[in-house]
Amino acid sequence: MSRNNVDLRIKEELCKGCRICVEFCPKKVLIMKNEKVKIDDIEKCIKCGLCELRCPDYAIYLGGNDNEKQ
Ligand code: SF4
Ligand code: SF4
Repeated sequence: MSRNNVDLRIKEELCKGCRICVEFCPKKVLIMKNEKVKIDDIEKCIKCGLCELRCPDYAIYLGGNDNEKQ
């Protein structure tokens, strides 16, 4: 089930460049650039949360955009 009220967020300082999220993303949304994960095409993201689930460093996640204003 997709979650429409969340955004894909990256905390680059926590990313150690292991590529796990890139490999597990079913839609090829993510790429590596300079050893850090980057969003290649956010339009393809189905917000499945697999990247968040697989990242060992909590560097990528789906964050709510209602209660989290930055
Ligand atoms: S939420 Fe799913 S589709 Fe979106 S980047 Fe993460 S793994 Fe890929
Ligand atoms: S799984 Fe986490 S630490 Fe590994 S590349 Fe992706 S965001 Fe970075």
